[in-house]
Amino acid sequence: MNTQAKISIVVPFLNEEENLPELYRRLSAVFSGRSETAEFLFVDDGSTDGSFQWLEKTQLNDPRVRILQLSRNFGHQIAITAGMDYAEADAVVIIDADLQDPPEVIADLIAKWREGFEVVYAVRRSREGETWLKKFLASSFYRIFHQMAKVNVPMDAGDFRLVDRKVIDALKEVRELHRFMRGLTCWVGFRQCAVEYDRAARHAGETKYPVWKSLKLAWDGITSFSGKPLQWMMNLGLLVALVSALLAFRIIWMKLSGNGELVSGWASLSVLVLFLGGVQLIALGLLGQCISRIFDESKKRPLYIVRNSGVNA
Ligand code: UDP
Ligand code: MG
Repeated sequence: MNTQAKISIVVPFLNEEENLPELYRRLSAVFSGRSETAEFLFVDDGSTDGSFQWLEKTQLNDPRVRILQLSRNFGHQIAITAGMDYAEADAVVIIDADLQDPPEVIADLIAKWREGFEVVYAVRRSREGETWLKKFLASSFYRIFHQMAKVNVPMDAGDFRLVDRKVIDALKEVRELHRFMRGLTCWVGFRQCAVEYDRAARHAGETKYPVWKSLKLAWDGITSFSGKPLQWMMNLGLLVALVSALLAFRIIWMKLSGNGELVSGWASLSVLVLFLGGVQLIALGLLGQCISRIFDESKKRPLYIVRNSGVNA
């Protein structure tokens, strides 16, 4: 592999003026002694503070700094996508702007990339400075996602990762709207490996991911990678219908044998309500299954991805 490789650092950010100077300083330090050339691609996801102005100033003195400004806030995942689309390098590192992902870890990511891995994701050994609710939700999500999705998304890995040019090109083919990038980078395949790190607390400012946004991301992740919730709905419907049938049999048996006391009208009503509830859930589940297939099709993901097209490569 060439030592003159170029690495793009993609930084999606929203109102991070307090963090950008420190991030820039630490990123520069990481690359000061390295053979690779760097490109710092800052993706401004609709910031309304002074971040953009600060970057413009910095850009005058450092040609490595590039700014991609989105027309409004499109959300973290879309900002990452835009950064990947515009990055011109042999490998791209995605990193948050708030210094929760220590820039020094990039050296470890590059080392693994040099060994031949095409996706090197950073796995959190610990998470500092986050509320217990967020930590609890995050760890539950990773475990549930692991169970449901058919792709093997590593637990406790965020978007902090290095991806090779080949992976970037593959991801460019995946244009679905509700994007869960860490799922997609796994879905495309390639040689993947993990590097462990300790997640720091936010350097400054407030989180731009309140719990509801995290829940939405979790929902996007689950629904775009698994039809299981719909299947559960159908199973529930089947169960309810079965219970109502058992109840009906019991009532008929009570009537015929004369055992137990029956209030007139109660039996038929409760069986009817239960049964209809069950039927409706089954119907909804079936509809859901169909919609989930239409949904899968409408995503138009490529059927397979070729790593090299040359036979002898
Ligand atoms: N971010 C963004 N667009 C958004 C929300 C967040 O680009 O709509 C950026 C944010 O500036 C940061 C990164 O995404 O660089 C992660 O967000 P944050 O640190 O607020 O999330 P947390 O670490 O609390 O989950
Ligand atoms: Mg953060």
